[in-house]
Amino acid sequence: MTQSIHVIPEDTYNRTLVAHTHPPDWVNPEPAPCYNLVVIGAGTAGLVTAAGAAGLGAKVALLERNLMGGDCLNVGCVPSKALLRAARAYAEVRDASRYGVEVPLGSRVNFPAVMERMRRLRAEISPHDSVARFHNLGVDVFLGEGWFLSLDTIEVDGKKLRFRKAVIATGGRAAALPIPGLAEAGYLTNETVFSLTELPRRLAVIGAGPIGCEMAQAFARFGSQVSLLEVAPQILIREDRDAAERIQRVLEQDGVSIALGCNIRAVKNQSTEKLIILEQHGVSHELHVDAILLGVGRAPNVEGLNLEVVGVEYDTKVGVKVNDRLQTANPCIYAAGDICSAYKFTHMADALARIVIQNTLFLGRAKASTLTVPWCTYTDPEIAHVGLYEKEAEEKGIPVQTFVQELHDVDRARLDGEVEGFVKVHVRKGSDKLLGATIVARHAGEMISELTLAMVGGLGLKTLATVIHQTARDLRIRSITL
Ligand SMILES: Cc1cc2nc3c(=O)[nH]c(=O)nc-3n(C[C@H](O)[C@H](O)[C@H](O)COP(=O)(O)OP(=O)(O)OC[C@H]3O[C@@H](n4cnc5c(N)ncnc54)[C@H](O)[C@@H]3O)c2cc1C
Repeated sequence: MTQSIHVIPEDTYNRTLVAHTHPPDWVNPEPAPCYNLVVIGAGTAGLVTAAGAAGLGAKVALLERNLMGGDCLNVGCVPSKALLRAARAYAEVRDASRYGVEVPLGSRVNFPAVMERMRRLRAEISPHDSVARFHNLGVDVFLGEGWFLSLDTIEVDGKKLRFRKAVIATGGRAAALPIPGLAEAGYLTNETVFSLTELPRRLAVIGAGPIGCEMAQAFARFGSQVSLLEVAPQILIREDRDAAERIQRVLEQDGVSIALGCNIRAVKNQSTEKLIILEQHGVSHELHVDAILLGVGRAPNVEGLNLEVVGVEYDTKVGVKVNDRLQTANPCIYAAGDICSAYKFTHMADALARIVIQNTLFLGRAKASTLTVPWCTYTDPEIAHVGLYEKEAEEKGIPVQTFVQELHDVDRARLDGEVEGFVKVHVRKGSDKLLGATIVARHAGEMISELTLAMVGGLGLKTLATVIHQTARDLRIRSITL
């Protein structure tokens, strides 16, 4: 019998989730004499690798120490997007009078109901990533912590699994921050915030990256008094300043108090509240909150794998080191997903897993560097990006021409009341070759796909301009002309 896992609150939905993703009565199988592939970690990267390889007839073992589905299903994309949908529903109601729709005054968010909806949906989705499904796909699923015993053997739950090739897909966790008193005061991360059943009255979110911004806006809309604390001079530091500023403006309109360039000096527990002592522009401030959510990046799960024994090189900050074919310093061991990639997205974990399947089972030469990777931060409006930023193109010496279409000049956006944002497209100067794009718009995550498709298919901006778009009135990027 495997170790029991409990997901709080232990209601019917979370029991269903655990029953699918780490069934308490699961008995690990007897290992096959030798596996073509042993995959450590059953998040997106591990699941896709295992399912794909087994589908091709390989003998595959998949190891998971916690819940199958990894971050995405349990403490990442799925629960966060469920919360964001509720936050958007609230904003629709709040802003309904703009459209002439009268709603009763005093509409409010029922936080426990929002969280229950999230738990229900997560449980309903969980069969896709379940032990039973992967068992039925022909994968030997082992629940327990896996580690390298020797050059051709991985141990899990006291069982020895011999392999021809192994894949490290152990993902990451919330990075810690060495602030005096923070650990003692206690804080939430993505691993615990989705277990809340009561709304914190005052919430400090440390870190204005994608997770911090998404959660800050959602909790502000739910009714928390949210302070978003960021050491950098802008939120979403990887994005263009103009795009980040649009998101900042909307977060502030939602009631989020944003402190940029802010250093947290100490945190203290004071009976029922937490005191944050911070410094901004040389001035010291005190902030009293009920809860702290830490979102300052990810730390790779490299510990305990015994990577030294198999000669896999790694770094405790950036993870397992791989070449372009996702091979580690040991040619029989590959890696996929957050553990080895700077692009920490579930669709990237999926794409890298497909490369690993080709390169481990066949004499594949598939390369990660050939991928065109879009991403999106699901604030409202969303901010999505693909390809190069203008400054990156300039650094590489690529001459750039940039076209910007503000949404307030797009009829359809005006009619929808979604004018906050823009579409910015970079082409190689003197040509229509797409280099990259950033979109700030309510549905930027969907809109970026068209530009991604064009980039992958080698279509230029002129071709995009000749495509007839079905729309009520207006092309989203109609006025971008060459
Ligand atoms: C709050 C949040 C929101 C997000 N939202 C989005 C989004 O909207 N869109 C998007 O694309 N991405 C999103 N992401 C990122 C996405 O969740 C990750 O990129 C994705 O889960 C990475 O998959 P992975 O398989 O590499 O790693 P993980 O999902 O982390 O899976 C790794 C698995 O390995 C297991 N493991 C680790 N060590 C061992 C061991 N020694 N033995 C056995 N098992 C082990 C872990 O328990 C875990 O289950 C979000 C992440 C977070 C935290």
